[in-house]
Amino acid sequence: DPVIGVLALQGDVEEHLTALASLGVLARPVRRAAELARLDGIVIPGGESTTICRLLDVLDLRTALTGGLQAGLPAFGSCAGMIVLARDILDGRPDQRPLGAIDMVVRRNAFGRQVDSFERSVAVAGLDSPMTGVFIRAPWVEEAGPGVEVLAEVDGHPVAVRQGSVLATAFHPEVGDDLRLHEMFLAMVSGG
Ligand code: GLN
Repeated sequence: DPVIGVLALQGDVEEHLTALASLGVLARPVRRAAELARLDGIVIPGGESTTICRLLDVLDLRTALTGGLQAGLPAFGSCAGMIVLARDILDGRPDQRPLGAIDMVVRRNAFGRQVDSFERSVAVAGLDSPMTGVFIRAPWVEEAGPGVEVLAEVDGHPVAVRQGSVLATAFHPEVGDDLRLHEMFLAMVSGG
């Protein structure tokens, strides 16, 4: 059975652990490099990407996590997690360094200051009906490389993408009880 880690530095950690547990998967919080060993996948939660990026360095997790991703560790990032997985960040903090697991440039807080948070019905490729996307100061994908598959868009901007076994959404599938994107990730973990 797969063991999935949830990067537990800041953000929606409990929500992802609960979502994975309710799908019958063994899910563990990850706060130290040693806890990355023997995982079948890693989730990077929503929260605040500047904080998560900084804590990756403070807690000395960056090298092990980058190494795992380069070796093909499947990953799923939501919102801040999408930003952390990107190659480049627009409107990030000047010293904010992402992990580069998906060949994309994301724009932080892209949907504007007036509408910080909203819900939208999102049609996601691979799902047989739309899901409700919860967007909270969400990013969008500004540029995606040729290896990146766009799974969903809002107002013409990609909000769900996949590259190989790495999945990222600008919205929060861990909020609410529609766990089809977690199921999609678990299918990727088992080679789908
Ligand atoms: N705006 C946050 C960031 O830049 C992301 C918000 C979220 O994860 N809900 O990290």
